[in-house]
Amino acid sequence: MKVPFVNQSQLEEIVATYPTPFHLYDETGIREKARALNKAFSWNPGFKEFFAVKATPTPAILKILQEENCGVDCASEIELLMSHKLGFKGQDIMFSSNNTPVQEFQYAREIGATINLDAYEHVAFLNEVTSIPETISCRYNPGGVFSLGTDIMDNPEESKFGMTKSQLIQAFKDLKALGVKKFGIHAFLASNTVTNAYYPALAKELFELAVEVVAATDVELDFINLSGGIGVNYLPDQVANDIAIIGEGVRQAYEAVLTPNGLGQVKIFTELGRFMLAPHGHLITTVLHMKKTYRDYVGVDASAVNLLRPAMYGSYHHISVSGKETAPETQVYDVVGSLCENNDKFAKQRALPKVTVGDTLVIHDTGAHGFSMGYQYNAKLRSAELLLQTDGTTRLIRRAEKAADYFATLDGFDF
Ligand SMILES: *Cc1c(COP(=O)(O)O)cnc(C)c1O
Repeated sequence: MKVPFVNQSQLEEIVATYPTPFHLYDETGIREKARALNKAFSWNPGFKEFFAVKATPTPAILKILQEENCGVDCASEIELLMSHKLGFKGQDIMFSSNNTPVQEFQYAREIGATINLDAYEHVAFLNEVTSIPETISCRYNPGGVFSLGTDIMDNPEESKFGMTKSQLIQAFKDLKALGVKKFGIHAFLASNTVTNAYYPALAKELFELAVEVVAATDVELDFINLSGGIGVNYLPDQVANDIAIIGEGVRQAYEAVLTPNGLGQVKIFTELGRFMLAPHGHLITTVLHMKKTYRDYVGVDASAVNLLRPAMYGSYHHISVSGKETAPETQVYDVVGSLCENNDKFAKQRALPKVTVGDTLVIHDTGAHGFSMGYQYNAKLRSAELLLQTDGTTRLIRRAEKAADYFATLDGFDF
């Protein structure tokens, strides 16, 4: 059973102060997650998590992660700018971009971020538009399918990201000739994996690649970046990943492959987004209307603009009715927003306790790829974000948009 990280009385108090809908984050959960990750990889002295900013580009959240010794992974100029302004130092910023504009490479170089090249063609491009750094990383794509046992996890062959093995080897040779001293290898081969086996399997593949690449190029390998992809148990019957087991699995692959090949100094990096934040955010929304036609509808004041995943991927997000967490699920509803789009449904044919107008619904696991994938369709405004702090108080960390924000870019009109 999934239980909200706020109880009914806490939530009533918060909702009395801040109008719904809003995203609510749990500081305690975020800190505990970061500590568990750092502990799981403490066997590797150079280990560092670079939180994928795109998952939750919210300064107060990034500051918490910074205090927990995390860096950031950026993929755009504004993510770089925000991270830089928040005091992340160059070596604490990974720039894992793709199809990268000139000015973004230039800005990444200016602030000293570590560049992770997505394409072989970007070696020459980077050299042309700015300069070649001392440390650089290249993103690998093995092609084919990525499977664990008989389970096909993802399809790298169809993925736009990364370079082939021969391109990666050539890129290392070219970059070495251009003066690079230290190298990294990065790959992201499967997304939202709910299994402790993904990272160790990815690690083994990358460690074996690393041995081969170092033999072919004689470069100094500084780090291997396992990137994102550790998933979360969105479904109530799924078992959450155990980061301690994952860290131990990666350690075993490290000891089996890297250490005996003289690569026992290599640092392990991660760029987790979803795993770090998803469970530690809720979308809080109020029931505005009930409607009965061919189905029973619960109409809420949030819509797909606040959480796109169900509309975009058909994703399951668990829903609790605040105060009715243990009530029997006697009804079947579609839980919908107010967009003029029929995919604007947080749940379809979902068994829930009996819902009435005014109920507060908690939509779970929205802390990553939730607010950040929001948009303004139907001229809907972006919601607020709140932080439930470790001392039990709640703080507004992003105000809700106002009409003036929506109109702010329309120079020459007076709304
Ligand atoms: C999106 C992304 C991540 C984070 O992915 P999660 O699934 O949220 O863990 C990490 N690295 C890169 C390059 C990404 O694009």
